[in-house]
Amino acid sequence: MTNNLGTFDVAIVGGGPGGSTLAALLRKQGRSVCIVERDSFPRFRIGESLLPFSMDTFRETGVLEKIRQAGFLVKNGARFVVDETLEEECFWFKNGLDTEHPFAFQVQRAPFDKLLLDHAVELGAKLFQPLAATGFRNEGDYAVLETAQGEISAQVVCDVSGRWTFMSSRQKQRKIHPSHRKVTVFGHFRNVVRDEEDESNIIIARFGDTRMGWFWLIPFADGTTSVGVVADGEYFRQKGQSPEQFFKESIEVSRSFKPRMEKAELIGELRSEADFSYTSERHVADRLIKVGDAGAFIDPVFSSGVFLSVKAAEMAAGVIRQAFASGDFSEKSFAAYEEKVRQGTKVFWAFIDAFYNKDFLKQMVTSRRRQLLQRSITSLLAGDIYNDRNMLIAYLTGKEGAYADKELQALMG
Ligand SMILES: Cc1cc2nc3c(=O)[nH]c(=O)nc-3n(C[C@H](O)[C@H](O)[C@H](O)COP(=O)(O)OP(=O)(O)OC[C@H]3O[C@@H](n4cnc5c(N)ncnc54)[C@H](O)[C@@H]3O)c2cc1C
Repeated sequence: MTNNLGTFDVAIVGGGPGGSTLAALLRKQGRSVCIVERDSFPRFRIGESLLPFSMDTFRETGVLEKIRQAGFLVKNGARFVVDETLEEECFWFKNGLDTEHPFAFQVQRAPFDKLLLDHAVELGAKLFQPLAATGFRNEGDYAVLETAQGEISAQVVCDVSGRWTFMSSRQKQRKIHPSHRKVTVFGHFRNVVRDEEDESNIIIARFGDTRMGWFWLIPFADGTTSVGVVADGEYFRQKGQSPEQFFKESIEVSRSFKPRMEKAELIGELRSEADFSYTSERHVADRLIKVGDAGAFIDPVFSSGVFLSVKAAEMAAGVIRQAFASGDFSEKSFAAYEEKVRQGTKVFWAFIDAFYNKDFLKQMVTSRRRQLLQRSITSLLAGDIYNDRNMLIAYLTGKEGAYADKELQALMG
């Protein structure tokens, strides 16, 4: 006989930032919620630089003050560098179109994810950990989440399983982005030379046409620093190097990162990942909603992952509230959620495509002379992606009529 683990309003797969945030928001609505998380926490996870616009969501769940008190490094800006020419510009969040979002945090994900998960439990979410979800069934008037130890019944199941894409993989809906097949190698280091103007800044340096890639430098409060390289997958394969050799050589030939890494000491091991940009044919189905990386993941150059995941959690909590009010848990009733998620992803993808095109990076690093452009870029970097007043979004997404707009032409120079 199958073991019955309980009945909840909502069952969530995954206790990363998206899952914990969704659970906290649903608990605030008074819903009974469970989280099924396969790993024991704390555990390593990449994705360490947060965006200012996720602070609103953390304030809403009540966890922002706990993040602050935990002593994570406050992040004030993002510096972008053209590796070949060393042209650079720093975007300070306080100078965005919206001046209400001046900071975010740089976080080691092991303690950060645990803090968020503990907060959801404190609000009353039931946690099954470590426990792997193994299947999903829609039984018509309720859903069943199958796990390694038994079944959970719920009105709706939310897949927040991250890049493991619990449901999209089973549904064969996961599609790797064909023109963004990248490889990344990264690690944590001691003795990295940080941003000279404000040591809390993230630094992103873009390099070479054929290699199509970039470095990141993300500082932490304990003095250690996350450094990674992202490059074109095809280029990496042609080199035939190990991830360690590739990382070492990439740093060696970099004008901007070599001096920063001269005395760096690796802590633990270098890690690598490949083909991390993908989407799903659908983000919803009857009694099922995919949230965050479980639905799609975009190139991480603008540190958008955690932000998009917690924003999607906020939007999912909104449609779930409506579903409980109407009693309608159909795919159709979740359609507006999917559209809004796709809209946000589209804005970032347009920005990412522009970044890999050297001309726009040039516009970025010379934007100091064009205040409106600089403020518009800063807002996008902060995560203000649903802002209709940001003409840059209209330009990047090719919104009809945008090119004819005088204000926009002035913006782009
Ligand atoms: C190279 C790189 C750099 C990045 N840099 C940044 C950055 O600077 N800033 C940023 O915001 N983002 C960054 N990201 C993205 C970030 O890692 C993710 O977007 C973020 O972790 C998504 O959160 P999530 O809650 O959706 O998923 P996750 O954090 O992946 O959490 C999913 C959870 O689900 C659990 N799970 C999976 N399958 C099951 C199952 N079957 N049963 C139970 N549990 C399951 C996993 O154990 C995991 O804990 C980066 C990503 C990459 C690849």
